[in-house]
Amino acid sequence: MRTRFAAPLLLTTIAAAFAWQAPVHSQPPAFDLVIRGGRIVDGTGSPWFVADVGIKGDTITAIRPRLETAGARVIDAQGLIVSPGFVDVHAHVEPREGGEDMVGNPATENNVRQGVTTVIGSPDGGGPVGVGGYLARVEAARPAINVGAFIGHGSVRSAVMGEVNRVATPDELEKMRELVRTGMREGAFGLSTGLFYVPGNYAPLDEVVELARVAGELGGIHQSHMKDEAARVLDSVRDTIAIGERGGLPTQVTHHKIIGKVNWGRSVETLRLIDEARARGVDATIDQYPYTASSTSIQGGLVPQWAQAGGREAMLKGLRDETTRGKVLAAIASSIETDRGGGDPGNVVLAACAWDPSLAGKSLAQVLRDRGRPVTIPRAAELVVEIVEKGGCSAVYHAISEDDLVRIMQHPATMIASDAAPGVPTFGRNVPHPRAYGTFARVLGVYVREKKVLTLEEAIRKMSGFPARRMGLLDRGLLRAGMKADVVVFNPTTVIDRATFEKPHQYAEGVSAVVVNGQLALADGKMTGARAGRTLRRYQQ
Ligand SMILES: [Zn+2]
Repeated sequence: MRTRFAAPLLLTTIAAAFAWQAPVHSQPPAFDLVIRGGRIVDGTGSPWFVADVGIKGDTITAIRPRLETAGARVIDAQGLIVSPGFVDVHAHVEPREGGEDMVGNPATENNVRQGVTTVIGSPDGGGPVGVGGYLARVEAARPAINVGAFIGHGSVRSAVMGEVNRVATPDELEKMRELVRTGMREGAFGLSTGLFYVPGNYAPLDEVVELARVAGELGGIHQSHMKDEAARVLDSVRDTIAIGERGGLPTQVTHHKIIGKVNWGRSVETLRLIDEARARGVDATIDQYPYTASSTSIQGGLVPQWAQAGGREAMLKGLRDETTRGKVLAAIASSIETDRGGGDPGNVVLAACAWDPSLAGKSLAQVLRDRGRPVTIPRAAELVVEIVEKGGCSAVYHAISEDDLVRIMQHPATMIASDAAPGVPTFGRNVPHPRAYGTFARVLGVYVREKKVLTLEEAIRKMSGFPARRMGLLDRGLLRAGMKADVVVFNPTTVIDRATFEKPHQYAEGVSAVVVNGQLALADGKMTGARAGRTLRRYQQ
């Protein structure tokens, strides 16, 4: 008995003897950072409450009224909203010409200023096949925010088969399976498909199901830029659901929209298909950006996929043949009439043309007028072919209705995602889609505050807790003790996007502080230079 108590008694005595010499400030602080007195919107969809958020290291360690702030940096958030950092599950952060990617622009101010703290790249079937090597390069560039990646079906098919329009042989299918498996093991969050694009467009559904199954076995999801978002959008949603149902994995319609005036209103039916799928146990969800225009290359958006088979040289050769050229022109004219062109050459706006930068910001109609040509759909189709022959352009297509946008946004299985690049290193270059600068702030400013389409809590859920859960990021996306400290502080009465289609290079406003892994990336509305982002991997051994 005596020996058992001796040591603790001795220690207690020593501690008591020296207690008077230990002033309070020499205690290690309970927190490194305290965000004080804000309205907490925690990412679950629950109503806000007032509390302090205490952060120690890279982790939220307490959320309670009146935390001890001695020794901590304090951010006063009274009257402001404190929410989880936003998680963008459709981000074009894959390597790009001109460095408009996460390695070329790791500070990604356009994302930070909207409160985005995590992006998942390689959507639409694209991105690097070597996921591990790619994530290592991103890590070496020290990004300001967290970065993860999908493994892209189009990239995998290209690597194994090239851009040919045919069914894969059993041997090729096995090679593709192996690439997907390796990508998943190296950290991909699932299989992305771009069935609208070449070469994804050439793959039969069975091939996609087979590869999706491999991703699902390793815990991934399937996310699809569908084969058609216009006249055949219902079939495409059915395909996306079938890939999840037959492949045995969660499936997601990405950047869901209804393109082309003649198709407007069909979101009623697409959402019904999603509801029916969920009712029978298929985990089908949606993501969306809050704009009534889409963006992709002029070739990818308007030239029929069959004409792109075999790569650029083969396509150009085809265009020199009069019969083929006539068929391509007819297909492009039909796209302008009923699909991405929104029925009017004024609705297709060139964004960036490397071979003639002066075209950026001009619509097909304006270019025709400038050249003294009649503004008609057949003439616009001819112009598109000329542009493609000269080297192509990226373009913005105004062909989506606000009614469909709002209906899709309000669906409980819809989350917000940007479909955007991490900003150009040369700020102000080109005229890209404004979604890169505005997506998340626009939802908060326009669709919560001005139009009251969503409650604030629901909007935050769609931008944080829901997408994080979808990616299996169980330690992010919610404000809760034990979670990684990715936090945004913004003013609900001023938060707004400033980027427009005419002047896209405008940062969002109203976000005052952004914390990434416990470090302030933005404080008092200013970039701090901190680059505390990490690369994230889905597969855990
Ligand atoms: Zn896409």
